[in-house]
Amino acid sequence: MLGTPLILDSPVPWHNFLPRPNTAELMPYVITEACKSTKDKSCVDVCPVDCIYEGPDMLYIHPDECIDCGACEPECPVTAIFPEEDVPAAQKEYIQLNRAVFKSENPPGRPTR
Ligand code: SF4
Repeated sequence: MLGTPLILDSPVPWHNFLPRPNTAELMPYVITEACKSTKDKSCVDVCPVDCIYEGPDMLYIHPDECIDCGACEPECPVTAIFPEEDVPAAQKEYIQLNRAVFKSENPPGRPTR
């Protein structure tokens, strides 16, 4: 074989190259509890569509703007980001929270530095 397969060089997680369930409905990525004490924002730097927003205590991914690319997931130093279908059982509430927060009276805004 010549060189390294492209999939191993990619910053996108390898599992993103596998067929996804429910492909008829795009599954956004979700930020979970570990972000609360961190707000590292490395994810913000790599998001190609600027769909990661900042609330008072954590970051949120806009579920309608996320294109499901997976670039943010490996950047998070505290493993707070998951594809929606892989959110740990104990943190499933964050799936709904990432949706509801954008419909609240004080939705998250553009991240500050
Ligand atoms: Fe942005 Fe891609 Fe992460 Fe969605 S999966 S929040 S589009 S970097």
